[in-house]
Amino acid sequence: SGSWEPLYRVVLLGDPGVGKTSLVNLFAGIQERDLLEQHGVAAYERTLSVDGEETTLLVMDTWEPEQRGEESWHRSQCLQVGNAYVIVYSITDRGSFESASELRIQLRRARQAEDIPIILVGNKTDLVRCREVSVEEGRACAVVFDCKFIETSAALQHNVAELFEGVVRQIRLRRGGK
Ligand code: GDP
Repeated sequence: SGSWEPLYRVVLLGDPGVGKTSLVNLFAGIQERDLLEQHGVAAYERTLSVDGEETTLLVMDTWEPEQRGEESWHRSQCLQVGNAYVIVYSITDRGSFESASELRIQLRRARQAEDIPIILVGNKTDLVRCREVSVEEGRACAVVFDCKFIETSAALQHNVAELFEGVVRQIRLRRGGK
């Protein structure tokens, strides 16, 4: 098209082990996987065509767990640089669901006046017998936290494309349709 395409930074948040890296690897795609080392930060760039229009996302998978309650510079940077956030928990791990709520609160605190797109993601839906968090609980949490919600399975590649398309749509909604 030749038109100027903005690039949006999408930051993944969530407890270790919930599937952030697996989701981002699927986003990046096996063929076009392109690891950019920017200031020691793992980020994957890809242009998605959604509703007939192209948008480039830079997805950052750099979130680190809190060390002994310490406030880290890196964590506060992650909360500052995103144009959109994907907060991931595992439906098999109630603790990670509680962490997701805590992350939503931290994000609100860090970016008070801003209307940033946030998607709450319940991952690992393939592990049916190990489910600890119901779909209804996830949905209700998203209502309370005023964000979008989707359940995914990185293992089955279920709803992963839909997740990132949803991110693009949420970004566009806040940019006057572009
Ligand atoms: P991260 O620490 O949040 O980046 O999580 P990873 O992407 O490294 O995943 C942690 C573990 O969970 C790995 O063993 C993955 O293979 C596994 N995993 C990730 N997503 C899924 C999923 O949707 N279903 C299942 N069954 N396992 C998953």
